[in-house]
Amino acid sequence: MLEPTFTIRCPVCGEEMVFRKNSVGNLKPGSRIHVCVMFYKCPKCDLVLHFDVPLEEAYYRQIKSLIDGEYEPVEDWKMHEKIREKLRRLGYW
Ligand SMILES: [Zn+2]
Repeated sequence: MLEPTFTIRCPVCGEEMVFRKNSVGNLKPGSRIHVCVMFYKCPKCDLVLHFDVPLEEAYYRQIKSLIDGEYEPVEDWKMHEKIREKLRRLGYW
């Protein structure tokens, strides 16, 4: 999995952003530039940021064959302490 080399902080409140999900596709419809779109969410203010990371053709095809387009690590997200507390307060469990 692609991972940032630094801590991504929320530009609004300064909280550490948490990886939410990613997807693989083209930069624009019809484009031949393949990207992995990485979504990060702030557990404090709910801001969502996404980053388009360019992929080489061979790596793109390898990832695409493994995840078939999109992978949502729902359990990873729910296991984050601040997210668990927030979801609990919203009545999820
Ligand atoms: Zn924030």
